[in-house]
Parts: sequence; structure tokens; C-alpha cells
Amino acid sequence: FANTNFNFSWELLAVFKRTFGLRHFRPNQFEAINAALLGHNCFILMPTGGGKSLCYQLPAIVSKGVTVVISPLKSLIIDQIQSLKSLDIPAAHLLGGITSEKENSIYSELWKADPGLKLLYVTPEKVAGNKKLIQVLRTLHRRNLLSRIVIDEAHCVSQWGHDFRPDYKLLGVFKQNYQNVPIMALTATATQRVRKDILHQLNIEETKWFVSSFNRPNLVYEVIPKKNKSSLLEIAKLIKKRFARQSGIIYCMTKIECDNIAFILSREGIRAVSYHAGLTDKKRNNIQMLWTSNEFNVICATIAFGMGIDKPDVRYVIHYSLPHSIENYYQESGRAGRDGDIAYCFIYYNHSDMHRIAKLIELGGGTNETKKVHFHNLYRIVSYCENKKDCRRAMQLNYFDEQFDIAQCIADEKTACDNCRIKHSIKIIDVTDESINLVRAIQKICSSGKSFTFTHYVDIFIGKKTQQVVAHGHENSNIFGKALHWNRSNLEQLIHKLILEGYLKKEMVEIESDILNAYIRIGPEAEKLLSRLVKVSLTLSSKTNL
Ligand code: ADP
Repeated sequence: FANTNFNFSWELLAVFKRTFGLRHFRPNQFEAINAALLGHNCFILMPTGGGKSLCYQLPAIVSKGVTVVISPLKSLIIDQIQSLKSLDIPAAHLLGGITSEKENSIYSELWKADPGLKLLYVTPEKVAGNKKLIQVLRTLHRRNLLSRIVIDEAHCVSQWGHDFRPDYKLLGVFKQNYQNVPIMALTATATQRVRKDILHQLNIEETKWFVSSFNRPNLVYEVIPKKNKSSLLEIAKLIKKRFARQSGIIYCMTKIECDNIAFILSREGIRAVSYHAGLTDKKRNNIQMLWTSNEFNVICATIAFGMGIDKPDVRYVIHYSLPHSIENYYQESGRAGRDGDIAYCFIYYNHSDMHRIAKLIELGGGTNETKKVHFHNLYRIVSYCENKKDCRRAMQLNYFDEQFDIAQCIADEKTACDNCRIKHSIKIIDVTDESINLVRAIQKICSSGKSFTFTHYVDIFIGKKTQQVVAHGHENSNIFGKALHWNRSNLEQLIHKLILEGYLKKEMVEIESDILNAYIRIGPEAEKLLSRLVKVSLTLSSKTNL
């Protein structure tokens, strides 16, 4: 820690170990906590499950005063408070629905000279419209007891993000009103554009950045061509064969689609249920609870089903319709495998889904500018789906401006994405030396003024004594059998490649009137190869030997 502003505190470590019962910090946690305690604004980008909460909860406990946490969802807040209470950490929320008695007791605690509360959770709309709260925050600030403001799920502040919430826009007032109170913004996803926008919207001028890798090494990505009805039966088979009784999510585009798919899967004996915005809150909560407790295995949902789901053992997420953007896809597929075990993310893709989403964008509200962004996002996910060669992890992570070494994806056959898995079944070998030998041999023969066909050369190199080969005395030449260890089809593949790349060429010659034959000659690029300015490689099946 020699060169960092290290703020070592035994109290911090004691709380970390004793109160949270943890032993080692995860990447970036300690650094972020330290920066927060030094009074910096902090921007924390960590994938879901990375341990963001600790980055503000621990500083909150060891700091004087109260930390205010803004979080978009009631359910998230309630979960957080429950887990804090189980650790004996004094925390409270001011959600609608609490009794006025409870609310009053929270306010009176906050008015005290040394409030017993350490963390106060509120939703953004509460911050905007509640005079009582605004007043209490002001007095906390005046008394130097407003320790930190935490904006959880900070991407909600940006309309370029995947989950824009208009109320988040109002959070810019914090930096205006309480300039010296540090802000901590946390999110599990943000492109460069969204990051900039978050800072701008929150009026943060300077911040420390803590950006963790977004790679989810235990998720296996695959895109499968979608054939409408037959794909549904394929999905049913897939679930029964590979994921029997395991938890999964199937994302669908419309409510009707959710109902239909749940119906078809149930008919196939799979415990599936439909979930969408057309159901009452009560019904939706009930369905979610039954899925969480494994009464249902598969939930067929629109993207309304999402934030706040914290089921660790989701073994697969299937997109039966195209996600709206790579960012959405990262979020939605990211609900799989939170327990760290291998989980699978499939997109069933066909081009017509793109048109369906494009229609939605066209007909939807918003300015032309936002529509443009939506279209851009859509085209990015379409090219992700249509790409059959690049690493899917790399494509996703590059979207978040993270460089990813694809060797990490290829390395493990069990977790490689579909495009990288193919690389396991092929090998790419360097054949520059062999190519130079072949081109030199052909050059020598050609310089004697004779011309031979593709097949003739293959026969010579492979060492096959055909009538033609013997007739020209080639069985005694030093090039006969030069590629004896090659198998014929690989040798043919190589010579074709040498022709395609211009090191050799095929020339049509009239050998009798109206009778043409194709002869192999030296190509225009041969010199480059012979001077070793270029390399030649060949792609072979991993099981093939030359
Ligand atoms: P996020 O908000 O980034 O999705 P959470 O803060 O909810 O993640 O943390 C995810 C899980 O990881 C929680 O169960 C939390 O207790 C656990 N966790 C966080 N930090 C650590 C750590 N340093 N060591 C072990 N577990 C941790």
C-alpha cells in the first residue's frame, strides 16, 4: 500500500470481520471503502453479486453520522434492511406503507444529537417530494451528521442506460445542496456513455473510479437459430434433458407469448408459469415466491421480471425473443448462475424478431434522439447474434469498454461460448515452410518451360506413381514424395489456399482446338512468400493429422 492514500483502521477490519463475518475483501472493495472513508466521491462498477453493498455499508458503520442510500426498488430495500438487521446494524427505511408511528420514531432518532441509525434507505421519489425528509437531511447536514449519500443502481439516472427512472433525475440536487458530502454511485452495468451521464446528472465533478471486470466466467453463452414452433419443442426437450427440475427463466416478448410458452411447457410436463405486467401485483409476487421456492421451475416472463431477483441457483436463462440491447442482455442473462456454478444463457434468434422490436421502438414514445439510440442498441445485439466467429464474452465486454482476452474463454471447453467452442474442434497450423517448398518446386518445374495440372502436382508431392508422373520422369525427381506425410485432402486444401492467396495461379491453356486445360503457375504474390514476408496457415479439424 506504499503509494496509496492508505487509511488503515483496526476498527474497519474489526467491523469487517466481526460484524459482517467476512475474512477477505473482494477485488476493489477495500480500495473503494478506503477512498470513501477519505471523503472522495466514488463510482463503483461491479457485476451483480460482486459485493457492492459492503462498499458503503462498512464505511457507514465506522463513520460518524448517517448514510443515506437511494435505491429504486422497495423489494431491494426490504431485503437489504433485513440482512443488515440480521447483522445487528442499525438501519431503517422510509418506504410508503410503514406505520406513522414507525416513521415518527425514525425521524425522532434522526433529530437526536447522536442518531442511533447508521443507514437510512429511501426511494428517489421520496427524496423529491417529502418535506419532512428534506428538512431532516438539512439538519443532519448542518450538524455534520450527513455522512455519505449512496446512489444504488446509479444507471437508472441515465436515459442511455437500460433501466431509466425519471425520479433518479432529481438526485442531482444532492451535490447542489450538500457540496461537501461525498457521493457513492454504484451500478452493475454502464457503458462509457452512461458513466459520463451519471456523473453529469448527479453533478459530480471529480470521483474515484473502481471498475471491476464484468466477465461472468461461469456463464456459457450460445445463440441458436429460432424456428418458431419447432424451437419451442426443442426448448422443452432441452429443459427435460439437461435442466430437469432446475430453475430457469425464459424471456418472451409479449404477455401472450409468456402464457403460450408456459402452457406448452406445462403440457410437456415441465413446471412452468407465466409472469408479466398484465397480472396483479399480488399474483406476480405470489408467482415469484413460488418460483423462488422451486414450486415452479421455469418462469416465462417479459422483461418486467428482473431487477431485484436474487435467486442464486438459476441454471439457465433462455431468450425466446431478442433482447433490446447488449446491455439488457448482459443484465437479463446475468440472473443465471449467481451461485458461481456453471449456468447457460441461450438466445433463440431469428431476424423477424428484430423487426418486431424495431416496430415497438418506432411506435413508442421518446424523442428522435432516444429512438436513434434504441435502434443503435438493437443493431448491436443483432450483429452479436449474427456473429458466428467472435467470442461472445469479448463482444459483450467490449460493449462495456472492457478489453477481454479471448484465450480465457477458449481455455475451458465447459464454459466456452458457442463461437469459442468451435475453436476447440479446429486447429490452426503454420504451414509457411511447407508452402515455400511447394512454391519453389513448382517454380523450378515451370522454369523448365513445362506446365502441369493441379492433380499432377498433388500426385508428385504425395509420391503417387501415376502414368503421367512416370511418363514425365517425376518419380525420380527430388520433389517426388516431398509431402509424403500429408494426407491428400489437406495437401489439396493447401494448394487451393496458395492459389487463392496469389502465391500460385491457375491458367487456362488451350491444348487442342477448343480443349482447355488448367495449369498451375507461379502467382503474382509468390515473391512475398519466398522472401518470408508473409505466413501461411491452415485450419484443420483438431482430429486430423497432416
Ligand atoms: P451486489 O450488490 O454487487 O450485487 P452484494 O453486495 O449483494 O452484491 O453481495 C453479494 C454477496 O456477496 C452477498 O451475499 C455478500 O454477503 C457477499 N460478499 C460481499 N463481499 C464479500 C466478501 N468480501 N467476502 C465474502 N462474501 C462477500
